[in-house]
Amino acid sequence: MPASYQPHTRDDDPEHTVSQSLETNLRAADLTVRHLIDQKGRAVFSTSADETIGTVVRLLRDNDIGAVMVLDAQSSLVGILSERDIVRRLADTPGQTLPQTVAELMTRNVETCTLDDLLVSVLRRMTDGRFRHMPVMENGAVIGLISVRDVVRYRLTALEYEALQLKQLIVG
Ligand code: AMP
Repeated sequence: MPASYQPHTRDDDPEHTVSQSLETNLRAADLTVRHLIDQKGRAVFSTSADETIGTVVRLLRDNDIGAVMVLDAQSSLVGILSERDIVRRLADTPGQTLPQTVAELMTRNVETCTLDDLLVSVLRRMTDGRFRHMPVMENGAVIGLISVRDVVRYRLTALEYEALQLKQLIVG
Protein backbone atom coordinates (compact mmCIF):
# COMPACT_ATOMS: atom_id res chain seq x y z
CA MET A 1 0.00 0.00 0.00
CA PRO A 2 1.50 3.38 -0.92
CA ALA A 3 2.03 6.08 1.65
CA SER A 4 -1.13 8.09 1.85
CA TYR A 5 -2.59 11.36 2.98
CA GLN A 6 -6.16 11.27 4.17
CA PRO A 7 -7.70 14.70 4.62
CA HIS A 8 -10.80 14.86 6.77
CA THR A 9 -13.46 17.52 6.77
CA ARG A 10 -13.23 20.14 9.42
CA ASP A 11 -15.34 19.62 12.55
CA ASP A 12 -18.37 21.85 11.97
CA ASP A 13 -19.36 21.90 15.62
CA PRO A 14 -20.39 25.57 16.13
CA GLU A 15 -19.24 25.37 19.74
CA HIS A 16 -15.67 25.07 18.57
CA THR A 17 -14.98 27.86 16.11
CA VAL A 18 -11.47 29.20 15.70
CA SER A 19 -12.26 32.56 17.29
CA GLN A 20 -13.89 30.91 20.29
CA SER A 21 -10.96 28.61 20.78
CA LEU A 22 -8.62 31.61 20.61
CA GLU A 23 -10.66 33.38 23.27
CA THR A 24 -10.73 30.21 25.35
CA ASN A 25 -6.97 30.23 24.92
CA LEU A 26 -6.76 33.00 27.48
CA ARG A 27 -7.09 30.14 30.01
CA ALA A 28 -4.22 27.98 28.83
CA ALA A 29 -4.78 25.29 31.48
CA ASP A 30 -8.28 24.52 30.12
CA LEU A 31 -7.25 24.00 26.50
CA THR A 32 -7.89 20.57 25.03
CA VAL A 33 -6.59 18.71 22.01
CA ARG A 34 -9.96 19.49 20.37
CA HIS A 35 -9.16 23.22 20.33
CA LEU A 36 -5.94 22.61 18.45
CA ILE A 37 -7.41 20.05 16.02
CA ASP A 38 -10.33 22.39 15.25
CA GLN A 39 -7.83 25.00 14.15
CA LYS A 40 -5.26 22.74 12.51
CA GLY A 41 -7.76 20.45 10.79
CA ARG A 42 -8.00 16.71 10.71
CA ALA A 43 -5.34 15.23 8.51
CA VAL A 44 -3.40 12.03 8.74
CA PHE A 45 -0.16 11.20 6.98
CA SER A 46 0.19 7.45 7.02
CA THR A 47 2.13 4.59 5.59
CA SER A 48 2.08 0.82 5.89
CA ALA A 49 4.50 -1.49 7.72
CA ASP A 50 5.78 -3.06 4.50
CA GLU A 51 6.66 0.28 2.87
CA THR A 52 10.36 1.07 2.41
CA ILE A 53 12.25 3.74 4.33
CA GLY A 54 13.23 5.24 0.96
CA THR A 55 9.56 5.99 0.27
CA VAL A 56 8.94 7.34 3.77
CA VAL A 57 11.84 9.81 3.67
CA ARG A 58 10.34 11.31 0.51
CA LEU A 59 6.94 11.52 2.22
CA LEU A 60 8.52 13.32 5.19
CA ARG A 61 10.44 15.70 2.91
CA ASP A 62 7.59 16.47 0.51
CA ASN A 63 5.13 17.26 3.30
CA ASP A 64 7.54 18.96 5.69
CA ILE A 65 6.64 16.58 8.54
CA GLY A 66 8.72 14.73 11.11
CA ALA A 67 6.72 11.57 11.69
CA VAL A 68 4.25 9.30 9.98
CA MET A 69 1.70 6.94 11.44
CA VAL A 70 1.74 3.30 10.42
CA LEU A 71 -1.69 1.82 9.69
CA ASP A 72 -2.71 -1.73 8.77
CA ALA A 73 -5.16 -2.69 6.02
CA GLN A 74 -8.08 -1.96 8.39
CA SER A 75 -6.67 1.53 9.10
CA SER A 76 -5.78 0.49 12.66
CA LEU A 77 -2.75 2.15 14.21
CA VAL A 78 0.14 -0.34 14.42
CA GLY A 79 3.10 2.00 14.87
CA ILE A 80 4.74 5.37 14.42
CA LEU A 81 7.95 6.19 12.57
CA SER A 82 9.77 9.45 13.05
CA GLU A 83 12.83 11.02 11.50
CA ARG A 84 14.69 10.14 14.70
CA ASP A 85 14.17 6.40 14.07
CA ILE A 86 15.57 6.87 10.58
CA VAL A 87 18.60 8.87 11.75
CA ARG A 88 19.44 6.19 14.34
CA ARG A 89 19.23 3.45 11.73
CA LEU A 90 21.33 5.48 9.26
CA ALA A 91 24.07 5.52 11.91
CA ASP A 92 23.68 1.79 12.61
CA THR A 93 23.46 0.59 8.99
CA PRO A 94 25.18 3.21 6.81
CA GLY A 95 24.35 2.86 3.12
CA GLN A 96 21.81 0.08 3.78
CA THR A 97 18.89 1.88 5.39
CA LEU A 98 16.66 3.04 2.53
CA PRO A 99 15.64 -0.47 1.32
CA GLN A 100 14.63 -1.52 4.86
CA THR A 101 10.95 -1.67 5.76
CA VAL A 102 8.94 0.53 8.08
CA ALA A 103 8.19 -2.54 10.24
CA GLU A 104 11.91 -2.86 11.04
CA LEU A 105 12.23 0.68 12.41
CA MET A 106 8.84 1.76 13.75
CA THR A 107 7.86 2.12 17.40
CA ARG A 108 5.00 -0.27 18.12
CA ASN A 109 3.88 0.90 21.56
CA VAL A 110 2.33 4.17 20.45
CA GLU A 111 1.08 6.61 23.06
CA THR A 112 -2.11 8.29 21.93
CA CYS A 113 -4.47 10.97 23.14
CA THR A 114 -8.13 11.87 22.68
CA LEU A 115 -9.85 15.12 21.70
CA ASP A 116 -10.84 15.77 25.32
CA ASP A 117 -7.33 15.47 26.76
CA LEU A 118 -5.87 18.69 28.12
CA LEU A 119 -3.11 20.14 25.94
CA VAL A 120 -0.87 20.67 28.96
CA SER A 121 -1.10 16.99 29.93
CA VAL A 122 -0.34 15.89 26.37
CA LEU A 123 2.64 18.24 26.27
CA ARG A 124 3.80 16.82 29.62
CA ARG A 125 3.54 13.24 28.32
CA MET A 126 5.51 14.15 25.18
CA THR A 127 8.19 15.89 27.23
CA ASP A 128 8.49 13.06 29.79
CA GLY A 129 8.45 10.38 27.08
CA ARG A 130 10.95 12.25 24.89
CA PHE A 131 8.84 12.18 21.75
CA ARG A 132 7.29 15.03 19.77
CA HIS A 133 4.26 13.44 18.12
CA MET A 134 0.96 12.16 19.46
CA PRO A 135 -1.78 10.53 17.38
CA VAL A 136 -5.31 11.65 18.25
CA MET A 137 -7.90 8.87 18.51
CA GLU A 138 -11.68 8.90 18.32
CA ASN A 139 -13.77 5.71 18.55
CA GLY A 140 -10.67 3.59 18.03
CA ALA A 141 -9.63 5.38 14.83
CA VAL A 142 -6.80 7.84 14.19
CA ILE A 143 -8.30 11.23 13.38
CA GLY A 144 -5.24 13.45 13.55
CA LEU A 145 -1.76 13.97 14.89
CA ILE A 146 -0.42 16.76 17.03
CA SER A 147 3.20 17.68 17.45
CA VAL A 148 5.10 19.83 19.91
CA ARG A 149 5.50 22.27 17.01
CA ASP A 150 1.69 22.45 16.60
CA VAL A 151 1.19 23.21 20.31
CA VAL A 152 3.85 25.91 20.33
CA ARG A 153 2.42 27.51 17.17
CA TYR A 154 -1.11 27.42 18.63
CA ARG A 155 -0.03 29.04 21.88
CA LEU A 156 1.95 31.72 20.02
CA THR A 157 -1.08 32.63 17.91
CA ALA A 158 -3.23 32.82 21.04
CA LEU A 159 -0.67 34.98 22.84
CA GLU A 160 -0.55 37.38 19.88
CA TYR A 161 -4.38 37.51 19.94
CA GLU A 162 -4.32 38.16 23.68
CA ALA A 163 -1.72 40.93 23.27
CA LEU A 164 -3.87 42.55 20.57
CA GLN A 165 -6.93 42.43 22.83
CA LEU A 166 -4.99 44.02 25.69
CA LYS A 167 -3.68 46.72 23.34
CA GLN A 168 -7.23 47.47 22.15
CA LEU A 169 -8.36 47.70 25.79
CA ILE A 170 -5.63 50.23 26.54
CA VAL A 171 -6.09 52.29 23.37
CA GLY A 172 -9.90 52.10 23.77
P1 AMP B 1 9.94 12.10 17.84
O1 AMP B 1 10.50 12.96 18.93
O2 AMP B 1 8.43 12.20 17.75
O3 AMP B 1 10.63 12.30 16.54
O4 AMP B 1 10.16 10.57 18.26
C1 AMP B 1 11.23 10.11 19.06
C2 AMP B 1 11.05 8.61 19.27
O5 AMP B 1 9.79 8.34 19.91
C3 AMP B 1 11.03 7.77 17.99
O6 AMP B 1 11.58 6.51 18.27
C4 AMP B 1 9.55 7.60 17.68
O7 AMP B 1 9.24 6.43 16.96
C5 AMP B 1 8.95 7.56 19.07
N1 AMP B 1 7.61 8.15 19.15
C6 AMP B 1 7.16 9.27 18.53
N2 AMP B 1 5.89 9.53 18.86
C7 AMP B 1 5.52 8.56 19.73
C8 AMP B 1 4.30 8.25 20.43
N3 AMP B 1 3.21 9.03 20.34
N4 AMP B 1 4.27 7.14 21.22
C9 AMP B 1 5.38 6.37 21.35
N5 AMP B 1 6.55 6.60 20.71
C10 AMP B 1 6.62 7.68 19.92
